[in-house]
Amino acid sequence: MRAQPKASHYINGRYVEDDQGTPLDVIYPATGEVIARLHAATPHIIEQAISAAAEAQLEWARMRPADRGRILRRAADLLRERNEEISHLETLDTGKPIQETTVADPASAAEALEFLGGVVAGHHGHYVDFGGPFAYTRREPLGVCVGIGAWNYPIQGAAWKSAPALAMGNAMVFKPSENTPLTALALAELYIEAGLPNGLFNVVQGYGDVGGALISHPTVAKVSLTGSVPTGRKVLGIAGSLMKHATMELGGKSPLIIFDDADVENAVGGAMLANFYSTGQVCSNGTRVFVQNGIYERFIERLTARTAKIRIGDPLDPQTQMGPLINKAQHEKVTGYIEIGKAEGATLHHGGGIPRLQGFENGFFVEPTIFTGVKDDMRIAREEIFGPVMSVLTFSKEDEVIERANDTEFGLSAGVFTRDLPRAHRVIADIKAGSCWINHYNLAPAELPFGGFKQSGIGRENSLAALDHYSQIKSVYVETGDVESPY
Ligand code: NAD
Repeated sequence: MRAQPKASHYINGRYVEDDQGTPLDVIYPATGEVIARLHAATPHIIEQAISAAAEAQLEWARMRPADRGRILRRAADLLRERNEEISHLETLDTGKPIQETTVADPASAAEALEFLGGVVAGHHGHYVDFGGPFAYTRREPLGVCVGIGAWNYPIQGAAWKSAPALAMGNAMVFKPSENTPLTALALAELYIEAGLPNGLFNVVQGYGDVGGALISHPTVAKVSLTGSVPTGRKVLGIAGSLMKHATMELGGKSPLIIFDDADVENAVGGAMLANFYSTGQVCSNGTRVFVQNGIYERFIERLTARTAKIRIGDPLDPQTQMGPLINKAQHEKVTGYIEIGKAEGATLHHGGGIPRLQGFENGFFVEPTIFTGVKDDMRIAREEIFGPVMSVLTFSKEDEVIERANDTEFGLSAGVFTRDLPRAHRVIADIKAGSCWINHYNLAPAELPFGGFKQSGIGRENSLAALDHYSQIKSVYVETGDVESPY
């Protein structure tokens, strides 16, 4: 299996290589095969990308927003036309089942491009009347923005960052995760085809040090990172010390609360989506599932039956519902947490093993896993595992569960399943998290802000909020009379 791109980087409208860079092998997580060999960016490549972006940005910023938006919407159309081909590449890059990538990855990238490309022309500054004199505000671009992606949603991440950046008149240099470098290159090519001028969306490959060099570059005005909390602290530290704008989309350990009156099949479906989609590698996952005592037996029975039917295996088989984890290190981390859960005294209710799959012996698979009898202070209930490991906890009272749900350093997401709508809104209002769901889980439409409270992040992606995070306000006071001066 090969998925070798023409070169490692995409700068100023063309593929560029510098084989002096540190080798970067791309591995298909289902088999462990090397499917492409790339190189991390050298200082020369980084300089080339940033100067191409800086040069292209000046003219782009002067364009009419409606014209910029039209190019983004054309890119959305192309993504949809190429959905099959790009989803295939995303499956090779991530190991996620083709059943998922064909509905979730290029599709949500296209949604962001279409929405932000559409609304940008109506995203104006303000007019302020001073009874004669007046003032107005302008929303101006920041300049060159850096996007740094995680490996779970590679093309979505590249689009969620570049769409608002480009819509507002910025240029972007994007560094994908070293684990999933391929689909950002496909997006860069597709942007050019859609009519984006050269230099506005550049892709450079590399590990954390390349990310650090990009953020520290004096020409760069902003960084948007999707990654773990420890990486977020480092990146925000650099950005803060250099007074640069920053958006941080970080990790979580989100609560999903299921009340006695919930529809049990919907609650089970929600809990499975919240833990097993993308093999559990979703930042907003509801991995602490709090189930009220009265529904507990029925919930566990249906959850177990439905989890046992999950089809795990070949990601390219359209019937497959769960693929491997991203790499060996993540596999060791997740299986390590399963051991920790057992040692801490939680009950391994379902899964926990490594499936034996013919032809995929070297893949990074793990069974969908359910722990019951989990206590709030166990590590499996406090730390982000980023794998298909659900912790089920029980509760009796509304006040109690709110307090326990909030007892975490994270604050990305939360979900509530109940038929009692006043209660649903009351509980969600008290939960300290940025992206919440009532009677569903993990939907992230482009119209809604997405992002976290507390350690889970700063700033928001998607929606009009993202346009604000990729621009700065200029206030302009206009005098219409004489200047009154005491001098
Ligand atoms: P990671 O933090 O290891 O890496 C993220 C990116 O940061 C990679 O591109 C990496 O090369 C880069 N990086 C690492 N060190 C850096 C440094 N010192 N300076 C600059 N860049 C650096 O995260 P990951 O393992 O790729 O992704 C998993 C994490 O991402 C999880 O914690 C998950 O919750 C989080 N995540 C959050 C969201 C969200 O929107 N909130 C979405 C997806 C994933």
